[in-house]
Amino acid sequence: TTKMKSDIEIAQEAELKRIQEIAKTLNILEEELEPYGHYKAKLSLNIMKRLAAKPDGKVILVTAINPTPAGEGKSTVTVGLGQALNKLGKKAIIAMREPSLGPTMGIKGGATGGGYSQVLPMEDINLHFTGDLHAITAANNALAALIDNHIHHGNELRIDTRRIVWKRVVDLNDRALRKVVVGLGGPVQGVPREDGFDITVASEMMAIFCLATDLQDLKKRLAKIVVAYNVDKQPVTVADLGVEGALTLLLKDALKPNLVQTIEHTPALIHGGPFANIAHGCNSVIATKMAQKLGDYVVTEAGFGADLGAEKFLNMKARIAGIKPEAVVIVATIRALKMHGGVSEQELHMENVAALRAGLSNLQKHVETIQAFGLPFVVAINRFITDTEKEIDTFKAFCEEHGYPVALAEVWEKGGEGGIDLARKVLDAIESGHNSYAPLYDVNESIPDKIRKIAQVVYGAKDVEFSVKAKKQIEQFETFGWSNLPICMAKTPYSLSDDPNKLGRPTDFTITVREFKPSLGAGFLVALTGDIMTMPGLPKKPAALNMDVDENGNAVGLF
Ligand code: ADP
Repeated sequence: TTKMKSDIEIAQEAELKRIQEIAKTLNILEEELEPYGHYKAKLSLNIMKRLAAKPDGKVILVTAINPTPAGEGKSTVTVGLGQALNKLGKKAIIAMREPSLGPTMGIKGGATGGGYSQVLPMEDINLHFTGDLHAITAANNALAALIDNHIHHGNELRIDTRRIVWKRVVDLNDRALRKVVVGLGGPVQGVPREDGFDITVASEMMAIFCLATDLQDLKKRLAKIVVAYNVDKQPVTVADLGVEGALTLLLKDALKPNLVQTIEHTPALIHGGPFANIAHGCNSVIATKMAQKLGDYVVTEAGFGADLGAEKFLNMKARIAGIKPEAVVIVATIRALKMHGGVSEQELHMENVAALRAGLSNLQKHVETIQAFGLPFVVAINRFITDTEKEIDTFKAFCEEHGYPVALAEVWEKGGEGGIDLARKVLDAIESGHNSYAPLYDVNESIPDKIRKIAQVVYGAKDVEFSVKAKKQIEQFETFGWSNLPICMAKTPYSLSDDPNKLGRPTDFTITVREFKPSLGAGFLVALTGDIMTMPGLPKKPAALNMDVDENGNAVGLF
């Protein structure tokens, strides 16, 4: 056989349709389509008004087991399943996150799927796309500049410069910016203070962008952001600074979802991209809801394993946006399961049925999580060419033994055709009627109770410990009346616990909450566990080393 093609080679060989043609298949009106070049377009929010009375399409959530650092193929299966549903004659749309340049230039790679299940043009989507992430970065940093400017000009709000919690952001992995000092150089350069950068996709600005239901809701949320505390330790908000209008203005075009297509011309809305380990991990509410109006089935993805993205989708996004998911796809790879069974990264390509059997405990935990949410599901085996028949049989036998619906997904190799069995089983799951979806906790429970429920039910933890700082913050939040918000857990994606080295299905472990970050605009409290960081660093050999552009301006080495 010939050498396997890379994602970008496959993408560059694909024939794209003009974006107007894709829009036509969704009955989008000409005035609702704002093309960005030939193959990308923004969609007017007026679509929501025009189609307000139309019944919502059914939402299918794609999640996974705890992944390897390379990813388990959730995006690939999301795209492949959307293509497969279309092949079965269903009107399916994909809703996904916008990639961040942090992982694209780092190790994880882009986020546009792979093989014959990709969204296109992948170079654009993985790089600057329609500029949404730049707009979000600008809005975030405009607010940072306005805070420092307020202090420079007399600090009427009596902001304690040691208690400013609004950080600057950049959408890159840049560890050198984690802690910085700003305002150096004397009286005309501002007021010196300690500051720091987060990656854009971990920011509250991104979370707000993704949870807002329309422009007015966006403005309301922006106004509520707590940027600092004053000298009396009382919160200072964007509304106090009076700049929510300016910030909304900076985001008004970005807030329109982006329409693109897959290799097989299935429509996809790609919009907003919070990380799932340090943020809530799902594409924008507006894109999901618009996709529900434009199609009968919406295949959407939540980042990392079901312990992170899916937990947050089901406990937060779905609750906040009033979305009721119809079915869940749990993606697993035999490679990752063998890793959970103790095999080292170098030996994952070799057959090892015993390790696979041991590693299936990780899948089982995630299945139990989805069952705890009351949702029907299908396990998708994302097939790699290194998987052996014996391993696939072992995997299937395990699922059959436990009564888990399972399908072999060959969408990376074959596109939609390779996802027909999965699509049929997903449709069966939806039609089964066994859906008693409900979030796992009531927002009015105490902060420790909510976190304990997530840790025990979703992670399988024994208990939760809170640092002295976290305990103080809980008391403070109670006095501010912030206790009745959902919790956004920040945790390593590699383990069910907060220790990335504990693979498989750890038991008897404790989760440590070291600190909270209140995100009043987003409407949740971020709980930081383990040593998770909100500004990643680059590895020794970043993916950037393989990237180039040829003499015709084509991207090279973008996976
Ligand atoms: P996730 O969404 O879980 O992070 P992705 O879908 O982005 O994972 O896939 C990660 C990488 O793995 C991509 O480069 C993709 O091309 C590759 N990949 C995914 N599925 C397969 C497969 N079945 N065979 C080979 N490579 C795959």
